[in-house]
Amino acid sequence: MTSNNSQLHIFFIPGLSPGHMIPVIEMAKLVASREVGLPEGCEIIDSDTHPDILFRVIKALRLLQEPLEQLLSSYQPDCLVADAFFCWATNSAAKFNIPRLVFHVACLFSLCASHSIELYEPQKKVSSDSETFIIPSLPGEIKLTKMQLPADLPKTGVEAEYINKMVKAVYESVENSYGFIINSFYELEKDYADYYRNVIGRKAWHIGPLSLCHADNIEEKIQRGKESSIAENDCLKWLDSKKPDSVVYVGFGSLVNFSDSQLMEIALVLEASGKQFIWVVKKSKRNEQEKEEWLPEGFEKRMDGKGLIIRGWAPQLLIMDHEAVGGFVTHCGWNSTLEGVCGGVAMSTGPVSYEQIYIEKLVTDVLKIGFSLGAQTCDGIVGGTINGEVIEKAVNRIMEGIEAEEMRSRAKAIAKKARQSVKEGGSSYSDLNSLIKELSLKSLKH
Ligand code: UDP
Repeated sequence: MTSNNSQLHIFFIPGLSPGHMIPVIEMAKLVASREVGLPEGCEIIDSDTHPDILFRVIKALRLLQEPLEQLLSSYQPDCLVADAFFCWATNSAAKFNIPRLVFHVACLFSLCASHSIELYEPQKKVSSDSETFIIPSLPGEIKLTKMQLPADLPKTGVEAEYINKMVKAVYESVENSYGFIINSFYELEKDYADYYRNVIGRKAWHIGPLSLCHADNIEEKIQRGKESSIAENDCLKWLDSKKPDSVVYVGFGSLVNFSDSQLMEIALVLEASGKQFIWVVKKSKRNEQEKEEWLPEGFEKRMDGKGLIIRGWAPQLLIMDHEAVGGFVTHCGWNSTLEGVCGGVAMSTGPVSYEQIYIEKLVTDVLKIGFSLGAQTCDGIVGGTINGEVIEKAVNRIMEGIEAEEMRSRAKAIAKKARQSVKEGGSSYSDLNSLIKELSLKSLKH
């Protein structure tokens, strides 16, 4: 990405899944709106990616180092912004004497929480996997159990050894980087932003929510990540026919795959809840006659007008920003969570992997805009059987009653602050200005 007025030239290297690519592209556009083309053509990891391919893609990340260094050499940018997964990026930037910034798809709350757990190891001081401990030194008395922490990575086997080495290299590369760019805003996680800067002592810039780049452009809202599996008009017509805050959106991001029996359980729960819903399922239908094993007989007929199933890719941002949507059942992917925050919805949280457990805590214990689906382990609801009753209760809790109203009203107040933060003079607007200024000054020095 080059600057119109020729000062600053920044390379953005996104990770290879929608959850990493979408915000990096948005970030590049945002920076471009102040200063600064976009990389063309990208490969992607999503819910269709076979696990065998996944390891090959992870290995292939290394192959990008040489071509990237050739590009750095040809174009001599002033800065390299690379996803945390690119464990060689800090060294590559150092070869060209430019700063490497890490774009990490996470909030500062989760960076602070994981930092404290690595440093103090409170999980080693409890007598059982289910005993709760408080995350040491972190503001807010945040409680977790050992079971909820990510399991140690396997140690033996060629793939495990490779991944362990890579994780170590990622840590080192992040540690030696110039700082973090965070897709979040200061008012959302003030205490943790301060803790990160003052206690952990690292540089970080809040420049989000990046999805708000599309606030005024409906086309951009729809064309995000992948082509949507539903026509925009059909989706909007359906939502426009509903009352405000009457629809729950059920979507688990771009990577999660449920088994047929899990999907069946979710379908039964949604029907039993009596709520209006949009449910995104990462499945495709070859023809109208095809019998789908994961769907109860006659489900869609019974749910006609009440529930909408989107098979494949949903225009999530468009949906989340619609006033009819009042609740979100989410896996706590950071992008989805932030989109939920900006949509002012109450959330039911079911984290499925590393870091998402921390994001759940931010939503439920810090912001108090959601309820946990009660996953006991870090692979949460995907790793085990789905407890229909628990999910039904969680859907009801975010859609009806005083508690739900209170959560939604807190969520809407936070959503307002999110919008203010990206406007001129707002915290994210100013933080991006400071980042650009600091990079420009560094650039002038060499
Ligand atoms: N997304 C979407 N349509 C879908 C699924 C996902 O637009 O059907 C977008 C979603 O809005 C979010 C991103 O893909 O911006 C998913 O990122 P997240 O961090 O929430 O989860 P991940 O997919 O990385 O688990």
